[in-house]
Amino acid sequence: MKIWLDGGLQDMESARVSVFDHGLTVGDGIFETMKAVDGRPFALTRHLDRLTRSARGLGLPDPDHDEVRRACAAVLEANPMPLGRLRVTYTGGHGPLGSDRGEHGPTLVVAVGETVRRPDTTAVITVPWTRNERGAVTGLKTTSYAENVVALARAHEQGASEALFGNTVGELCEGTGSNVFVVLDGQIHTPPVTSGCLAGITRALVVEWTGAKETDLPLDVLERAEEVFLTSTLRDVQAVHRVDGRELADAPGPVTAKVMRVFEERAGEDLDP
Ligand code: PLP
Repeated sequence: MKIWLDGGLQDMESARVSVFDHGLTVGDGIFETMKAVDGRPFALTRHLDRLTRSARGLGLPDPDHDEVRRACAAVLEANPMPLGRLRVTYTGGHGPLGSDRGEHGPTLVVAVGETVRRPDTTAVITVPWTRNERGAVTGLKTTSYAENVVALARAHEQGASEALFGNTVGELCEGTGSNVFVVLDGQIHTPPVTSGCLAGITRALVVEWTGAKETDLPLDVLERAEEVFLTSTLRDVQAVHRVDGRELADAPGPVTAKVMRVFEERAGEDLDP
């Protein structure tokens, strides 16, 4: 397996970053996960734009889009696979012990792994911990994912594949690695980014392609929504058949099934040539 590091391809087994890289010591880094279909990254420009927004939010230098594009192409060419999960990691780089950044500049790593298409439906839980909708790094795709790791482990313990967070004012927010949509009176709604959720790229495409509304929703909307579904790069659009103890037996319901069809039909439009 070849990865991109320090401006070129390297063997994954021998590639090394500093043990004092701030991505490791203080979680000072950002990332993107992209899908690659037969070696073609999906929605690459949108991912690069979000990477830049996250970098600016953390005060990291703007990532060089040309380099990231070259890195993705090189990694995909060196590791052919039908469905890949590309991971771009961009950190504060090697620095002193403590939170001040060093002068070495950022570390860019691009790697790919095989992935598989997710099942059409899944179970989710809600967790008692909250997303902070007004934090310094809210909405940035940072490498500080420990909270998500803990919540996801809780979901797995309970036979679910995703954990959903509310925010500090009791509104529905997002999952550990996905955005959430609900159907109410036949209308599709998803929390706005002011809820503290990540501006998911799949979420944005679903909003654009279906006219779903961005609405502040109380967390308990999950107890009465007609349908619930998740969106993410690796899930695409995935129906929810259980939320905590509540079964949504007919999932995917008619509205979700239509969104899944629309997404599948249009997703090819955003594949990198
Ligand atoms: N929310 C969080 C916290 C995520 O980590 C992700 C995916 O990485 C998403 C939402 C979904 O975003 P996207 O559709 O861009 O994959």
